Amino acid sequence: MEKHVLSKSTFIKGIQCQKALYLNKYHKELKEEVSTAQQAIFSQGTKVGELATQLFPGGVDCTPESFYDFQKAVIRTQEEITKGTKIIYEAAFQFNGVLAALDILVQDENGWKAYEVKSSTGVTETYQLDATIQYYAITNSGIDLKDISIVYINNEYEKNGPIDVKQLFAIESVKDKVLELLPGIPNKVAALKKVLVQNEIPDIDIGPHCNDPYTCDFARHCWKKIPKYSVFNIANLRDPKKFDLYNKGVVNFADVPEDFPLNENQWMQVKSELNNETFIDKNNINEFVNGLKYPLYFMDFETFATAVPLFDKSRPYQQLVFQYSLHILSSTNEELVHKEFLAENNGQDPRIAFIEKLIDDCGDKGDILVYNIGFERGKLADLAAAFPKYSFGINKIIVRLKDLMVPFQQRWYYTPAMQGSYSIKKVLPALVPELSYNDLNIKEGGTASNTFAAMLMGEFEGDINQTRNDLLAYCKLDTLAMVEILNKLKTL
Ligand code: SF4
Repeated sequence: MEKHVLSKSTFIKGIQCQKALYLNKYHKELKEEVSTAQQAIFSQGTKVGELATQLFPGGVDCTPESFYDFQKAVIRTQEEITKGTKIIYEAAFQFNGVLAALDILVQDENGWKAYEVKSSTGVTETYQLDATIQYYAITNSGIDLKDISIVYINNEYEKNGPIDVKQLFAIESVKDKVLELLPGIPNKVAALKKVLVQNEIPDIDIGPHCNDPYTCDFARHCWKKIPKYSVFNIANLRDPKKFDLYNKGVVNFADVPEDFPLNENQWMQVKSELNNETFIDKNNINEFVNGLKYPLYFMDFETFATAVPLFDKSRPYQQLVFQYSLHILSSTNEELVHKEFLAENNGQDPRIAFIEKLIDDCGDKGDILVYNIGFERGKLADLAAAFPKYSFGINKIIVRLKDLMVPFQQRWYYTPAMQGSYSIKKVLPALVPELSYNDLNIKEGGTASNTFAAMLMGEFEGDINQTRNDLLAYCKLDTLAMVEILNKLKTL
């Protein structure tokens, strides 16, 4: 059997960028390593795929033993079809050098139907194209497909009892769109095959395609000519404008034309960088600081989310709280008190223990400062809705929340080191450089989430005690950072 040259994923990669396709084939060494965050996404995808087979139970799995053994899977699939097997998982087909491994192939009284499983929560144009290349390989291999559908996660499903796969998944036929896209496939396949026999790397420059539909694995290689801080870091500037500047040869702030359409905040970022200038609106900052009511609480939550809900009263991808840190300042002169919570990694729902300790730790008066109020308020509202028994206590916390991000979001304080951002990870080093996340083993929220989720599901391979301490240290620094940021604002 002729070896395939394009798989479904390399086809999609090639459609995004021919250079990426070529580099993927001949210069794998330039590819970025898969991050732990991506690894976590892949592993969720695998779990979702396995669960989706329960929609059509009792099938035969044609997954090849080795990733590189897809030819065997193609032969095995044909054998199963010939045998009369009605449900096949990972059914593999090859036509014209294109290999397609379909998640679920089903034959019912109306004929063959194809199902491609996605762990996201809707159907995108890329999924439609992805289904089209599957349809192309399958139908040209002699299967008369009556329908092709995307199976995706229904994020309105709420778990109550064992997972109900019929509710967890939504199924949407994409056949009409596939038939519309199908006539374009042979030309696309021919063009991509041509790229793969070239002797040179395709001459394609960076562009909006580097992140659309996926962040390219070769970005570090192609973007290394762009300085670390450039016009691509102008806050809230959309891709067309960024590439408009780039295509005019403008990469550095110093070269941005005076008449370029940036908004006030964007100009503030550019000018502040060029003139090394700090902007401070003392009146608004004073009003904010003097309006705070003591005892003052500094609070931060950590959350995790899974595609398939683990606990009753939770939905797919819902962010569930598992940790908080709370620094408390009774009055301006008192010593800082620290309280914290980190759920046990025993597979149990952490939310009730979280709520009970939080209500206790928060007392009943004084402002509670958070950084980005929408997040903590949203999580508290979710908790009140899921556990109405605690809603009175939770709502008393919600009404006391105040947002320490406001002075930075409103640009009452802006300094070049903030690099256009008001995230605490940029504001802290700009205002309190002596306090840093750099020495911590866990340095950002994504790692904290993935680490805790892995521990909760019994998939963590590492020193659990040490890692729990790392999680506590990370969250504690988030609230200590808020204390120090407020101290800095007070000095103004
Ligand atoms: S980084 Fe951009 S230009 Fe480079 S290969 Fe990827 S998509 Fe193409």
